[in-house]
Amino acid sequence: MVVVLKPGTKEEQIENLKAWLSSMGINTHISQGMNHTIIGLIGDTSAVDMELVKALDIVENVQRIQEPFKNANRKFHNEDLVVDIAGKKIGGGNFQIIAGPCSVESEEQVCEIAKRVKESGAGLLRGGAFKPRTSPYAFQGLKGDGLKLLMEAKEMTGLPIVSEIMNAVHIPMFEEAVDLVQVGARNMQNFELLKEVGKMSKPVLLKRGLANTIDELLMSAEYIMASGNENVILCERGIRTFETRTRNTLDLSAVPVLKKLTHLPIVIDPSHAMGYSHLVKPMAMAATVAGADGLMIEVHNNPAKALCDGPQSLTPDQFDEVAKLVFELRPFACKYDY
Ligand code: PEP
Ligand code: MN
Repeated sequence: MVVVLKPGTKEEQIENLKAWLSSMGINTHISQGMNHTIIGLIGDTSAVDMELVKALDIVENVQRIQEPFKNANRKFHNEDLVVDIAGKKIGGGNFQIIAGPCSVESEEQVCEIAKRVKESGAGLLRGGAFKPRTSPYAFQGLKGDGLKLLMEAKEMTGLPIVSEIMNAVHIPMFEEAVDLVQVGARNMQNFELLKEVGKMSKPVLLKRGLANTIDELLMSAEYIMASGNENVILCERGIRTFETRTRNTLDLSAVPVLKKLTHLPIVIDPSHAMGYSHLVKPMAMAATVAGADGLMIEVHNNPAKALCDGPQSLTPDQFDEVAKLVFELRPFACKYDY
């Protein structure tokens, strides 16, 4: 349920309403807009008499929320969420390209890539240190040492760091090293991990699971937000379909669909969606025009020798071309004013 208050409602009146709702076991989420204040009700609202709330002097209208996601629901929020990642903003008209290797492999590799993607306009550096590999015999990442190398690359370039967390025991390490904590596709429904990440102070990039619906993605965001961390960015990275010509099928329709449902920013990852470097450019362009708030693109200085995801990785020169096109297309991006 959301309660829209009349303009000019006083702080004390809001506090009284919150206290009354709290006495019925209802938690509240306040969203302060330019003209209106919206109170989102979280909990079992079946006992709340809608007519009684509607009749209050300060209330303009009351609406039941059908969707099971509340904190992540656009109806709870007046405006698009703008996430500030160590000074780089995503959402609400702010656009960023996150670029870097699938895995951190060496100091030379990550620093060289970081320098090049920054020159091309990337706003954040990605790099996996803990890798979720299908085979236990494949390279699993440099782990803590990988995070240290990312910090070096950040020191050199100033680019904030994005890296994937797989286990809650690593949270202290991530709090120190990483600016945007990635929850990968394979862990989208690791609810215990989501709850712990929800207690972190860093923003979270939540990737859609390989075979998960948009509603399930939003419910996973809800887990993080319900634990207290409201700074969640959603990422569409392709889903499993019967198609085999691409690694996954990029569900670009997720952008307009999510824009209507949620205030959270949406990033598109054409690299993992397509699986082949020559297919990244067209989908990066399409995602930009569809109105994504950002892109995540894998870049490697020697894709043929990459320890992970070489076939989909762009060279720094290829990335430079894609980034230029994307920035040229930004003025034509679809705008949503829900
Ligand atoms: C990644 O970003 O390197 C990754 C493993 O992505 P996903 O979880 O989308 O497969
Ligand atoms: Mn990868």
